[in-house]
Amino acid sequence: MSFPAPGPPDIPQVMTDSRGVSRFLAPEDPLAVLAGVLGRPFLDYRRRWDEAKNFVSVPPFPLHVDYEMLPACNLRCPMCLMAGRDKSADSLDIIGNEAEARAGKKAGEKAGEKTGKKAGGNKGFSAKDGLKTPGGQEEEEKEEKEKGRGGDGSEKDKNNPDLKTLSPAAVKTLLDEGAERGQASMGFGGLWEPLLSPHIASLVAHGRQRGLVEAMFNTNGSLLTADVSRDLISAGLTRIMISLDAATKETYKLMRPGSDLGLVEENVREFLALRDRAGSRLPLVRLSFCLTSLNEREWPAFVERWRGKADFFSLQSYGRFSPDSPALFPRQRPVPVPAGICAQPFKRLLVRHDGRVLPCCDLSGLPLELGGMEDGLETVWRGEKLAALRARIRGPEKGLPRCCRECQGKYEPRED
Ligand code: SF4
Ligand code: SF4
Repeated sequence: MSFPAPGPPDIPQVMTDSRGVSRFLAPEDPLAVLAGVLGRPFLDYRRRWDEAKNFVSVPPFPLHVDYEMLPACNLRCPMCLMAGRDKSADSLDIIGNEAEARAGKKAGEKAGEKTGKKAGGNKGFSAKDGLKTPGGQEEEEKEEKEKGRGGDGSEKDKNNPDLKTLSPAAVKTLLDEGAERGQASMGFGGLWEPLLSPHIASLVAHGRQRGLVEAMFNTNGSLLTADVSRDLISAGLTRIMISLDAATKETYKLMRPGSDLGLVEENVREFLALRDRAGSRLPLVRLSFCLTSLNEREWPAFVERWRGKADFFSLQSYGRFSPDSPALFPRQRPVPVPAGICAQPFKRLLVRHDGRVLPCCDLSGLPLELGGMEDGLETVWRGEKLAALRARIRGPEKGLPRCCRECQGKYEPRED
C-alpha cells in the first residue's frame, strides 16, 4: 500500500506528526479559529502547552486530562487497534452489558421519535434512537445512588459487577481539582466510544463552567443524535473528531460494520446545522480517515465530499507495528521511528474507566500504568513513575520502554 499525497493542493496540510502517521488538512488553521473564539485563556493555555511539548518546563498539573467513562464500543471495526488487544478484564467482552442496557433503555424511550436506520453492531443500538444525554442533575444523582461505588472513584455496574465505569461524580471532582491547579483541557472516551456514556455533555458543561478552556473527544458518530448534538454544543464542547473513513456506503460497511454511512453523514450534517443555528463557530468538526487497504482509494473523494463543510480533516496512516497489528495496515511504518520525542507524559494524563491512570491515550501505552485516580492526579503527575518515564523518553533510545518504541500514535507535533 502506498501512502497518498496529503490531499488536494488547495486544502493546506496544517500539521503533521514527525513520522507522517497523522496529517491534518484544513482551509483555516484550527488553532487560529479556536484562538479567535476562546481568546486569551486559549492563547495562555497553548503557550503552556507548547512549553510542555518542547520540554521547556513541566507544568505543575497536566494541561489536558482524558476521562474514559466506560470500556465499550458499539462497533467492531476490523482495523480497531483496541479490539482484542486490551487484555484487562474490560475488553470488548463487556459490550452488551452496561452500554447495551443503557442504549436499549434509551432506545425504548425514544422509539416514538422519527425512525432511523440501525447503527451499531450490537443488538438494539440505533443512532437515531440511541443514547440521549440526560440533562438533569437529579437523574444522575439518583443513578449514582443506585450503583455500588468503588472506593477508587470508579463504580460497578449493577448489570455486570465485574465492570467498572467512571462515575460522573468522580469525574466532576477531578475536574474541580484540575480547574484549581491549571488544567486547561478535557477529553472523553479514552480508548473507547464516549457517546455510549450519557454523561458527556453534563461533564463538558461542568468543566467549562469551572474555567477549563477546551473540551473534545473522538467518536464514530453513530450515536450523535440531534439531542446529543444540541446538548454538546450548548455545553461548550470545543472540538469533535468524527471517524468516517469512507466516501461510499460499500467501503464504509467494510470499515465500520454495523453502522451506516448515510446515517452517520446525516448526523454530521445535522450537527453542523445545529451549530450554525446556535450562531457558534465551535465545536470545530474534524472528520477522520484511517487509511487501510480497504479504503485507500477513497481518500480524495472523501475530502471532496466534505470540502467546505468540515472544519478540518485528519488522515491516519498506521503501519504494522507488531505481529498482531491488523493486517489491513501496511507492513512498513511510514517512516522510521525517531526516539525521545514523545511529549505526552509532559502535558496530559488518561484516567481509565476503572480509575487507572496512564500517561497517554495511545494503545501502546497500556503497560505504562502510573497509579490510580484515588491517589489524586497531582500525586500521580508529580510521582516517581512519571518522572522516570519522562527521563527515559528524553534519554538514549535504548532506554526507551518497548511500548514507546513501538508506538506510532502520539509523536509531536500534533494538532491537539
Ligand atoms: S468505532 Fe473506534 S473504538 Fe469502536 S470498534 Fe471502531 S475503531 Fe474501535
Ligand atoms: S511514546 Fe506512545 S506509548 Fe509512549 S508515552 Fe508516548 S504516546 Fe504513550
